[in-house]
Amino acid sequence: MGPAEIRKKMVELLGKEKVVDDDVSLKAYSYDSSFMARRNRFNPDAVIFPVSTEDVVKVVKFANENLVPLIPRGASTGETCGSIATTGGIVMDMCRWDAIEEIDVANMQVIARPGVIHVNLNSKLAEHGLIFAPDPGSSRMCTLGGMVANNAGGLRAVKYGSTENHVLGMEVVTPTGEVITTGGVHSRAIKSVSGMNLTKLFCGSEGVLGVITKLRLRLIPKPKGRGMLMAVFAQKKEAPAAVLAVYKSGILPSVVEILDESSIEAVNLFKPSLNLPQKEAILLFEVDGSPASVKDEGEMIVEVLKGRAESVEFTTDPKRMAELWEGRALVAVAATRLRADGTRIMAADDVCVPISRMAEALDRIREIGANNGLRVVNYGHIGDGNIHTAPILDIDNPAEVALVDKLCDDIHRMAIDMDGSTTGEHGVGVVRAMYAEDEHGRAVHFMRAIKKAFDPNNIMNPGKLFLMEEGK
Ligand SMILES: Cc1cc2nc3c(=O)[nH]c(=O)nc-3n(C[C@H](O)[C@H](O)[C@H](O)COP(=O)(O)OP(=O)(O)OC[C@H]3O[C@@H](n4cnc5c(N)ncnc54)[C@H](O)[C@@H]3O)c2cc1C
Repeated sequence: MGPAEIRKKMVELLGKEKVVDDDVSLKAYSYDSSFMARRNRFNPDAVIFPVSTEDVVKVVKFANENLVPLIPRGASTGETCGSIATTGGIVMDMCRWDAIEEIDVANMQVIARPGVIHVNLNSKLAEHGLIFAPDPGSSRMCTLGGMVANNAGGLRAVKYGSTENHVLGMEVVTPTGEVITTGGVHSRAIKSVSGMNLTKLFCGSEGVLGVITKLRLRLIPKPKGRGMLMAVFAQKKEAPAAVLAVYKSGILPSVVEILDESSIEAVNLFKPSLNLPQKEAILLFEVDGSPASVKDEGEMIVEVLKGRAESVEFTTDPKRMAELWEGRALVAVAATRLRADGTRIMAADDVCVPISRMAEALDRIREIGANNGLRVVNYGHIGDGNIHTAPILDIDNPAEVALVDKLCDDIHRMAIDMDGSTTGEHGVGVVRAMYAEDEHGRAVHFMRAIKKAFDPNNIMNPGKLFLMEEGK
């Protein structure tokens, strides 16, 4: 079926106000944050804005009957082309469907629609002294549906786990147009081992198994106190050892982040007033809990780091903590300052390695960068082995762009070779689908079988997560 017919049908099914089909608007849906989307243009045939389960069912049934690809989309902050219509089709933009339907304070859970922006949920929950614990750096933009579908992580995943640890159940429209509820049709329980865990199956399924239309999310009390530590290391290899020493002392901080020397340089260039110590590595720790436990744990970490770090600062002053966080938050944009003609690209951006091999991974990434003639900035969630690698290049120089694919392939293969993962939180999408068999082996055969059981016509987000052909 051609684009014109698809658009006409969408207007018939949903009404004009829920459909976008002009070329300029469609272009805005042709990219996410990935370098792949920057290098290509993938215009969808139409974009629709469902605001009810019925809207979704109508469109899914149409897509399934007419073999039209259907791509669910949150805010498209993904880094992997996951929400992009790489083979054409209909993009289902959830942004208008953003109701927080019920905050069930007594049962510590919330019922929300997929288009809710993460930060808006936590602002509402603050009134009740509760939080939804996952906290991706894209909090001000990304949607709950996108977070669940990508199983987003974030800074506090080291203590609280990724999004999947906080999802109790969900409503899903399957690719054949059925509506199911995972986690129990009427359940308000926060614990259940009844039945196969379809909730977990849909977490991280990246839109290939169905459209998430409602979420039941677990809430926890908002910690009353927070403290931060900044530890400075003359030698980068000391930093991972220091993290392990903190764990060994019996403390699990709520955040453990690293900035390598190039991240520090970039932040200081971008905002000199932050004046970060220009050394090989900085670790940022956060501890949370009661004010007394924050003080205790902060002081214990200072003790553990004595003799390991060149200097350690512990603070519970909100202004100072905000300054330290600003340094971390700026790395992603500041990285471009390392070269006058440089752009930081999102590619091979979040491999995860065993934390015991973090020092080796940092060395190997630096070596891979040098071998491929590109500078790579490293920062991120060292506490769970999840490194953000940021290649800096002149994207208008085809010779440099040509180096990127090899660089990314080397970094992904390094992660698999080190018993790690090609992605700790950003997801697979298109850009990592080709590594599925190397990373998961025979298990991919069963992933394909599950996909076929839900989606016999392969209409839901085709080409994402893994390649459908065996042996690929
Ligand atoms: C500045 C920045 C910082 C970031 N920081 C982090 C971080 O700290 N941790 C982290 O994990 N990620 C991070 N990300 C990546 C990204 O923001 C997250 O993966 C986020 O959860 C994606 O949400 P989204 O609403 O933008 O989803 P999208 O990008 O729109 O979609 C992501 C995937 O989910 C699918 N999907 C979306 N909605 C639905 C639905 N209702 N039903 C079924 N499938 C659906 C899409 O098809 C796609 O495959 C960051 C991105 C940016 C730009």
